[in-house]
Amino acid sequence: MKAGKLLRGLNYCSVYDAIELRRCFKCCGLHHYSDKCSSEVHVCPKCSDNHPAKDCNSSELKCTLCCGLKDTNIDTGHAAWDLSKCTAYKNAHDKFKSLILGTK
Ligand SMILES: [Zn+2]
Ligand SMILES: [Zn+2]
Ligand SMILES: [Zn+2]
Repeated sequence: MKAGKLLRGLNYCSVYDAIELRRCFKCCGLHHYSDKCSSEVHVCPKCSDNHPAKDCNSSELKCTLCCGLKDTNIDTGHAAWDLSKCTAYKNAHDKFKSLILGTK
């Protein structure tokens, strides 16, 4: 299998880094890009309001992805593109990774 060779040739970290979850810059949704977006409205990655990020003048950050999670203990005070802080993205990414690396 191709994937097996890839895993042997590279160290695990670089393989993990190579797996990127698609993110939409229009609706901030995951698993698609903005050209395939079915959303009618822009969702701001910074404040979760309905406008493009470039029009944002909110000083308060609110992650639309994390607001969508049921767990209310999750910190939502970050931008949706701040991957180091985004729990929703991390969860989705972990799932995505195991989906790819978990199958032989
Ligand atoms: Zn979208
Ligand atoms: Zn905004
Ligand atoms: Zn988030």
